[in-house]
Amino acid sequence: LAQLFRPLDMLGMVYREIKQGLVDMEQMFKLVDTQAEIADAPDAVPLVLRGGNVRFAGVDFSYEPRRQILHDVSFDIAPGRKLAVVGHSGAGKSTLSRILYRFYDIAGGHVTIDGQDIRKVTQSSLRRAIGIVPQDTVLFNDTIGYNIGYGRAGATQAEIEAAAREASIHDFIVSLPDGYATPVGERGLKLSGGEKQRVAIARTILKDPAILILDEATSALDSATEAEIQDALHNVAERRTTLVIAHRLSTVTDADEIVVMDAGRIVERGTHAELMALTGLYASMWALQQAEAEGEMVAVK
Ligand code: ADP
Ligand code: MG
Repeated sequence: LAQLFRPLDMLGMVYREIKQGLVDMEQMFKLVDTQAEIADAPDAVPLVLRGGNVRFAGVDFSYEPRRQILHDVSFDIAPGRKLAVVGHSGAGKSTLSRILYRFYDIAGGHVTIDGQDIRKVTQSSLRRAIGIVPQDTVLFNDTIGYNIGYGRAGATQAEIEAAAREASIHDFIVSLPDGYATPVGERGLKLSGGEKQRVAIARTILKDPAILILDEATSALDSATEAEIQDALHNVAERRTTLVIAHRLSTVTDADEIVVMDAGRIVERGTHAELMALTGLYASMWALQQAEAEGEMVAVK
């Protein structure tokens, strides 16, 4: 194991040397092949979690200087609560999750977790605090056990299995001839969309983050599989601050608050009942999706 960590140690040394020697940082990033765009502030400190309150305050953002994507976006998710973000494709929903994970820095406003500006904390501590279940889960060419265990370095087999049970994929895994040692990914067993999602959910359960981001996590699935996965997602979201980006509105009617985005702005906000009463964008999206769902049912008959 020590052998494994030596290269990482070396890299750390090189990093410190370069930093202390004030050598061109860009060179170093080329060396380790990562993005130089977002770096820790020189005086960055670890994030101190106290429940996981997430706050966006007047956030302006653009990927490119000439095209502003987010305009004055504000919301507040109390610890353990669930905020849903809905809106048409391209409205800026996924951008919110990329900003919270600090893949990009904002141009105006503030993003804080438990009162700490995410630009002032170390990225490693920030990213430890946040779990993402993405739309498309990438599997490593390794065993299914490894793919779940990746959620937390040093997880035991018992912990991996407990997470798999919670994500309702344990029974499937033990039914495979090689169980947890079954190779998956491009060179192994091909998993269905629903199975991959369950692996991602198990990974996230193992990571045990205070803050959870679900980005249209079930949109690629058929309705029946989606309903099953929703149960598993419900388990993960419990007791965690959750930002859920939803495709199907029917999956977020229980959210504490729903914000409706349109062209980078929040145009409506409230509970499901409040938004329905507004008879605005949310209500019209709801009506459209209900009609689509009925169409599907008719098609099945
Ligand atoms: P949503 O998740 O609501 O569908 P996104 O947040 O992904 O929307 O995207 C919002 C807008 O930002 C879109 O117009 C999209 O084209 C643009 N966009 C997304 N990613 C990038 C990027 N990396 N560079 C430039 N523009 C981007
Ligand atoms: Mg998106």
